[in-house]
Amino acid sequence: MSCQFNFSAGPSLLPKDVMLRAQLEMINWNNTGMSVMEMSHRGKEYTPIILNAEKNIRALLNIPLNYRVLFLQGGASTQFLMSAYNLLETKASYLNTGSWSDKAIKEAKLFGSVNELASSKSSNFNYIPKDYVIPTDSDYFHCTSNNTIYGTQMKEFKSCPVPLICDMSSDIFSRVLDFSKFDLIYAGAQKNMGPAGTTIVIVKEDVLGKVTRQIPSMMNYQLMIDKDSMFNTPPVFSIYVSLLTMKWLKNLGGVETIDEINKTKAIVMYSEIDLNPLFKGFAAVEDRSTMNATFSLVNEGLKDTFESMVKEAGIEGINGHRSVGGYRASMYNALSLDSVKVLVEVMSELETKA
Ligand code: PMP
Repeated sequence: MSCQFNFSAGPSLLPKDVMLRAQLEMINWNNTGMSVMEMSHRGKEYTPIILNAEKNIRALLNIPLNYRVLFLQGGASTQFLMSAYNLLETKASYLNTGSWSDKAIKEAKLFGSVNELASSKSSNFNYIPKDYVIPTDSDYFHCTSNNTIYGTQMKEFKSCPVPLICDMSSDIFSRVLDFSKFDLIYAGAQKNMGPAGTTIVIVKEDVLGKVTRQIPSMMNYQLMIDKDSMFNTPPVFSIYVSLLTMKWLKNLGGVETIDEINKTKAIVMYSEIDLNPLFKGFAAVEDRSTMNATFSLVNEGLKDTFESMVKEAGIEGINGHRSVGGYRASMYNALSLDSVKVLVEVMSELETKA
């Protein structure tokens, strides 16, 4: 059966309405006779698209006025180095909660000394360390809000005596957060925002300009701010579909509404993992992600039966990351509660069969 329920970790599903709208407008945007992909990024037709995308993001996340919103390229992986390039003068503190944090640490080491405050690496990152103190002499503290591979999520952000940088790639727009606590946030679009191609960066302007090194143009946040994300050609189509997704989220009731929906989906999913004796969860219960639920079969002998039932139900994308194994159900904003119920139904049917 072809895919009916897409649980992919990313790129992941987009709201159907968004894709239908993009399809409708694909070759003739706003009666211009052109596709969004075909027009000048500086023209009078495209400019309102990028401005509107920013406006919607600001409104949805309640971004304070002294923050700038950028649409860059190169994925969150480029932000691992770009954040350090622009903010790391002597030393920085990092929380290591998974291989994405690990990669951010590796890049930062090219620019200064890195203090890994805590790490859950020795237990394959199945929990979020909480027992650490952020030194006041760090240039900043970096963390990853949601660990896509392991299914762990930071529920609390300690009060931070230095600028707080957060990789929110896999849970931005999924829950209500006080963004004024953060100084720099980045996220690839391809989970909750739109198609891969653009990376959103939200930065408090006064944290910039403190490093003494020369920064190449494409790596320079201040230059990107001064040029309104138009230093070079931005990923026009990705930004346009992101705008459609932001409007979809707004019409749904905004981040407050999706936060409730996401919590309900997570309760349904984790209840099955906990109550069905055939399955066990991977992540520590208090750190479980509302976006990515990681679990495995207790008895691997049921693997083939379970996987063929999953396929038969039209479910795709639940294979776990190779470093964790088992299964991962990614429940991003566009995934409905009903889709989660279909997976849960298959899991409970397996229990009846076994
Ligand atoms: N950080 C997190 C938390 C991620 O989940 C990912 C990718 N899924 C990345 C960083 C890397 O993002 P990109 O592929 O956009 O560089």
